[in-house]
Amino acid sequence: MNSLWDDQESATYTSDLAQRVYTSRLLGRDSSLVLHGGGNTSVKISETDIFGDKEEILYVKGSGWDLATIAAAGFAPVRMPHLLRLTQLETLSDLQMANELRRATIDPNAPAPSVEAILHALLPYKFVDHTHADAIISVTNTPDGLDHVGTIYGDQVVVIPYVMPGFDLAKLCAKLFPAQVGPQTIGMVLMNHGLFSFGETAQLAYERMIYLVSLAEQYLTERGAWQIATPAAIPPVRHLRQELAALRHDISVAAGGPMIVATHSDAQSLAFAQRDDLTKIALQGPATPDHIIRTKRVPMIGRDVEAYSRAYAEYFATHAATARQPLTMLDPAPRLIVDPELGVATVGRTVRDAAITEDIYRHTIEIILRATALSSYQALPAPDLFAVEYWDLEQAKLKKGGKPPIFTGEVALVTGAASGIGKACVESLLARGAAVVALDLNPIITTLFGRAEVLGLQCDVSDEVAVDQALEATAKAFGGLDILILNAGIFTANRKISTLSLAEWNRPFKINLDANLIFLREGYPLLKLAPKGGRVVIMGSKNVPAPGPGASTYSASKAALTQLARVAALEWGADNIRVNVLHPDSVYDTGIWTEEMLKGRADSYGMTVEQYKTKNVLRTEVTSHNVGELTAELCGPLFAKTTGAQIPIDGGNDRVI
Ligand code: ZN
Repeated sequence: MNSLWDDQESATYTSDLAQRVYTSRLLGRDSSLVLHGGGNTSVKISETDIFGDKEEILYVKGSGWDLATIAAAGFAPVRMPHLLRLTQLETLSDLQMANELRRATIDPNAPAPSVEAILHALLPYKFVDHTHADAIISVTNTPDGLDHVGTIYGDQVVVIPYVMPGFDLAKLCAKLFPAQVGPQTIGMVLMNHGLFSFGETAQLAYERMIYLVSLAEQYLTERGAWQIATPAAIPPVRHLRQELAALRHDISVAAGGPMIVATHSDAQSLAFAQRDDLTKIALQGPATPDHIIRTKRVPMIGRDVEAYSRAYAEYFATHAATARQPLTMLDPAPRLIVDPELGVATVGRTVRDAAITEDIYRHTIEIILRATALSSYQALPAPDLFAVEYWDLEQAKLKKGGKPPIFTGEVALVTGAASGIGKACVESLLARGAAVVALDLNPIITTLFGRAEVLGLQCDVSDEVAVDQALEATAKAFGGLDILILNAGIFTANRKISTLSLAEWNRPFKINLDANLIFLREGYPLLKLAPKGGRVVIMGSKNVPAPGPGASTYSASKAALTQLARVAALEWGADNIRVNVLHPDSVYDTGIWTEEMLKGRADSYGMTVEQYKTKNVLRTEVTSHNVGELTAELCGPLFAKTTGAQIPIDGGNDRVI
């Protein structure tokens, strides 16, 4: 591990707090040191208050901030004397401690100080850095961890046995640190947790962190326990979407709401999942307290959600019996699945949650493999894991949560999603919390939305093989399918029936009808497993109730599609799948309509463009966004009792009314 310190760059950070920001970001740049809000840093600064009195302030990382992107505002300024006095108390619950940290903050708008603030305060150095470095955890999470730490560091570090983060840990450090500190001390190892380093300058504290972590890396390297080769693994060969959707269904039932299940079948995940000693090494639990909160106690090995939930309930009952206060069991669904055929699957209420769990578990896998190569992996005992999972600070966070968006944890697929109505549908679904698979013939779709909640795939919807692959990719990325928006379609040039060739007649049917049959047929088994029931919205057309001359192929194909949807509504009602049709009209902000075309059309009616766009009963313009919003709402609770309906969205059409 190399220091990222840069003299030129650091010179632009001129105050103590700015230096604190700079090296915090350096730590945050390396995911083997800190991950997703993990780790924390501080600086002690003398300040003068409004009365002219000097006070010692600890600027410590605030919760909700990530070291990689932290700014000065991310540090909570807390009065040092208050923090130090707290360590003299015999007992303090962690909720009381969090409250005291808040009370001692000099800026009411500051973020909540890190729960490790007291620990930072009692280390008598200006700059203090704390990470959960992979190398340290790999060494400490072994039965002979203390010996390894002793060999690596000698008297360069103070060693603190594992205690849960919070007041008890601060108390223990307040006792052990002064007793162990010596002239060589430049850091502090917290067993099964992480590492502290400190110094009088930001550079010194940071470079000591790098030095200490490097020593552990070197120690592991010398013992063949740092770079672990990934053995060849057998990749999945079958179609898995049906089984994944069934698995996600069971997990969602156990979790009490729809969940995202993201499957990772890369070489590293598969090789880990296919190890002979998997049960022994993977079932011990997360690597650090920081990891426990998101990944839960242990992964589920295989796919028996019921057995996992039962085991979790037993684990809860056993440990809750000895808790100080009555506890409510969290949902018993797994957050991690390790399966020889799937590899590693991560579960979350949102795509982001599942992705964070993935990141953490990739590091956990490395820690487990390194510890195993060094001697053998040993996680914390179950009561300690339980104590963190049911930490009162975590329980308090759960109570605070507001109402999530209506499609949280749900998966939608939209065809023709690169522009116009399809794109608007994707946006409306995203705004309501769904994960979306966006399909389009246009390759721009793969990067168009630029966010993890969207899987953009180039797909020719009339190609059965391509659709099959898209649905496999959907289940792999998010676990299943809840909402299907069949929007892709083509409008064929005006042609009178008297001159229509059979080829021209057939062309729109291939896209507007046949392609949608494929989606309905292949989507059905997945929609049937949607935790809250499947929903399908089909983009019909005003031309169904009110066709126009010259548009026989388009009108007939959309009419046939509407009839197909009505039959699907009848056939699938018993499976709790709703199928509804929208008939949009006069939506001009789509890719098909250029300013020039609009002008031409308006001229032919003797109208201005504005008049032409609003030539409907309500004299209103209908936008793609309007259609996207109605499409999303049609899939939501408002329309929970509606199926087989055809709803116009056209500003009112006197031929339809
Ligand atoms: Zn920590």
